[in-house]
Amino acid sequence: MDMALKTPQLVDSKLTDQFGRTVDYIRLSITDRCDFRCIYCMAEDMTFLPRDEVLSLEECARLIKVFVNLGVTKVRITGGEPLVRKNALWLFEEIGQMEGLKELVLTTNGSQLWKQAEALKRAGVKRINISLDSLNPVRFKQITRTGDLKQVLGGLQASIDAGFEGIKINTVLMRGSNDDEAMDLVQFAIDKKIDISFIEEMPLGEVNHARNSTFVSNADTLKLLQSKYSLLPSTETTGGPARYWRVANTKTKIGFISPHSHNFCESCNRVRITCKGELYLCLGQEDKIDLMPLLRANPNNDAPLIAAILDRMMIKPKGHDFDLRRAEPAVVRFMSHTGG
Ligand code: SAM
Ligand code: SF4
Repeated sequence: MDMALKTPQLVDSKLTDQFGRTVDYIRLSITDRCDFRCIYCMAEDMTFLPRDEVLSLEECARLIKVFVNLGVTKVRITGGEPLVRKNALWLFEEIGQMEGLKELVLTTNGSQLWKQAEALKRAGVKRINISLDSLNPVRFKQITRTGDLKQVLGGLQASIDAGFEGIKINTVLMRGSNDDEAMDLVQFAIDKKIDISFIEEMPLGEVNHARNSTFVSNADTLKLLQSKYSLLPSTETTGGPARYWRVANTKTKIGFISPHSHNFCESCNRVRITCKGELYLCLGQEDKIDLMPLLRANPNNDAPLIAAILDRMMIKPKGHDFDLRRAEPAVVRFMSHTGG
């Protein structure tokens, strides 16, 4: 496959939207499948896409290459669970070698890291986010429905041993479920010399989930943590929704991803691509284009794809529209579809 096709005047150009925001970060979901069924992310009984409706790994690599040629410097691979996709490592190796790319990063539930961490590091993955909502095995199983805490903690340790530049835990706190574990999870991160982010639960997916009663605000979590730890505000930013605090005298940073209490849209530098090749311009809105038909109709010519991407960049919405008071989710789409 000719993946080197370039449109010279576009090489090195930047993807800029109508509000002047430069998009230099893509999150690509490489599968909608997962070995877990986390209660805030998936229904217990999920129907997954047939294989031919999912981008092949070669198509994923081609798409990423196009975006890197358009100025994208950071790629996050996500899912579903990206590491359960067969031969996923091939894709990491391909992307890891792309000229112009500065950062290849991964979001995973950690279940496969015990056997894949070292190879991912060799492929060029710089940082890993591992989702971890509880340190209690029974509760972990309740939240993930199928997950084995021991296996995930083994994978986390394997990643530390492999020497990634950064490892971060992602935690979704839910009232009455795991909201009493914020301190323990932060202490765990401090002991392991890694970072942790608290993600406010977003109103996506199942209509029946009682989100406004389980919702835990990051402002409350911050207050709680400040009662025990000395937290120094950090100016560090990834251009994304996280606000960071450093725990004094430790190597640990705490991030708060707060779509409700802090609207992060004005500095948004990212777009998302689903495993079906849909380019979503905003996590919380429906605006998208289907890139798969363009990829498949033009196997040796990236020009139509590039034209469509540049055209749609101009309709990237100003921001999301999440509102906890509404009974129905803002967007009825599972997080595993867009990859978070
Ligand atoms: N399977 C991988 C994992 O769990 O890390 C990658 C995909 S998962 C969809 C990415 C992130 O989205 C996870 O950290 C998960 O906790 C988060 N997530 C899923 N559903 C969410 C929701 N409704 N609100 C907030 N975060 C959510
Ligand atoms: Fe799977 Fe990640 Fe969704 Fe949990 S959050 S069900 S691990 S995709």
